[in-house]
Amino acid sequence: MSNIPSLPQPRTPWWRDRGFRAFMRETRHEILAQWGYDCAFCARFNVRRLQPRRIVPKSYFGPYQLWNLWPLCPRCSRRRHEMKGTSPQPERLEDIKRVLSTPLRLDVLKIFKTAAEYALEDEYDSRDASKAIAGRVSCLVGFMREDPPRSEDITPDSWAWLGSSAAWDAVFQNACRLLPAEGQAAGWTRCPRRTKDGAA
Ligand SMILES: [Zn+2]
Repeated sequence: MSNIPSLPQPRTPWWRDRGFRAFMRETRHEILAQWGYDCAFCARFNVRRLQPRRIVPKSYFGPYQLWNLWPLCPRCSRRRHEMKGTSPQPERLEDIKRVLSTPLRLDVLKIFKTAAEYALEDEYDSRDASKAIAGRVSCLVGFMREDPPRSEDITPDSWAWLGSSAAWDAVFQNACRLLPAEGQAAGWTRCPRRTKDGAA
């Protein structure tokens, strides 16, 4: 009878989790101050109602850590959850994990931020969005490697992977998944990309 597996313990909801609540209290004002006490999307000043929210969503392994938080007002937070095309079950989970663990994760965040901002705009233009996102992605994986200069904490190992098409696909496709459905249906095209040895 010893082989009977024990049932998983129910998870503590966050509002009962003391450690998490303490962390939220401490970090809240730090995050709000970084954004001048404005909502990161609509830029409305709203000290009382702003809350730290994940930039890279939980379903994409975005952790509840300082680097992945921005302040959103309740309206923008709700709208982001209601966005069409948001995938609760992204593909290529391992690749997303790798992207998020590189020293370039701040660049990755910029891509997600660009995607989310475009998706929230009322006059959403999938062409503009795809251009902006493709531009950010191409910077990230080295198409514009000489300009701007890369930071020094990028090791040759991470370069090899970040310059690969797997990294490109992981970031691009998953940034696209945060966009409204019509953006994806409009047909996304890749911007030109150079490999490490300079071939097209
Ligand atoms: Zn807002």
